[in-house]
Amino acid sequence: MEHQPPRRDVLGLPKAHLHLHFTGSMRPATLLELADKHRVRLPEALLGGTPPKLRATDERGWFRFQRLYDTARSVLRDEQDIRRLVRETAEDEVADGSRWLEIQIDPTSYAPRLGGLIPALELILDAVREASAATGVGIRVLVAANRMKSPMDARTLARLAVRYADQGVVGFGLSNDERRGLARDFDRAFLIARKGDLLAAPHGGELAGPESVRDCLDDLGAGRIGHGVRAAEDPRLLQRLADRQITCEVCPASNVSLGVYEEDSAVPLRTLFDAGVPLALGADDPLLFGSRLAAQYRLARDVHGFSDAELAELARQSVRGSRAPDSVQKELLGDIDAWLTTPITERTDAS
Ligand SMILES: [Zn+2]
Repeated sequence: MEHQPPRRDVLGLPKAHLHLHFTGSMRPATLLELADKHRVRLPEALLGGTPPKLRATDERGWFRFQRLYDTARSVLRDEQDIRRLVRETAEDEVADGSRWLEIQIDPTSYAPRLGGLIPALELILDAVREASAATGVGIRVLVAANRMKSPMDARTLARLAVRYADQGVVGFGLSNDERRGLARDFDRAFLIARKGDLLAAPHGGELAGPESVRDCLDDLGAGRIGHGVRAAEDPRLLQRLADRQITCEVCPASNVSLGVYEEDSAVPLRTLFDAGVPLALGADDPLLFGSRLAAQYRLARDVHGFSDAELAELARQSVRGSRAPDSVQKELLGDIDAWLTTPITERTDAS
């Protein structure tokens, strides 16, 4: 084992977390407790404590991933569950050095048990304010439509999101299998969102290639891309993302868990970074992929050879790509500089 120079603790590096899904942020232990509380039978894959093996690059694998996700979501049934999830997520963010979180949620699936779409979103926003006040991490919400549902449903969600734009909703997303249908089927929903001053942040360039990122830019007016990692396959697209400073919410552990790349070293983090594409590392669904935010920065360091200065730059990019107010961004950028200028006295990071 070659000698490693002392390095700063990535937990102490202030970051913004821009790609995290609501159910996917649940602690494994909480999933077990809530399943018990509501007598939900969990499949073997969710009981192990180790992340399930998934291969989402084919449709069956993706379907299996969605089934697991739906089961996990089904344990969130009442107000207490929602508040607990948000509170614990905020605590986990703090522990990982996250200072600003933008969490994605499709309220549709919770609505029937929580009294409808509006009460569901209002509860989530209230839980977010409560958890933010209790932990100090700034939290905002992206309402995400589901690509497997109709564009009309997406427009309903976009109108709902805009209505709560001054109460904690900052963006509008589009999730689920990007190989299905066309991005432009959802163009009107995104138009509603953008007119309402929401950030357009659809998923693209994960399960499908660079063309899906281009569709997000051209058809949906994306200001940020969920994943976007496969833009690395197209130098001209990389240039375009860099020129326009469109942040890609890259989730390295998720990519390997879902089989988008065979191993950690194959995630083209370097290609994207060196091309000048702003990145915001994200955990996506820690419940299913087994690692949270700080672990993504450790992968950048340990697998992709990012120096402390480069990790600090990644953190700056996450902050600049966020919807945090200018005053918050300024404070975080200052604290990132402070992290980088802290003298290293000993190796503090155990990873
Ligand atoms: Zn995602």
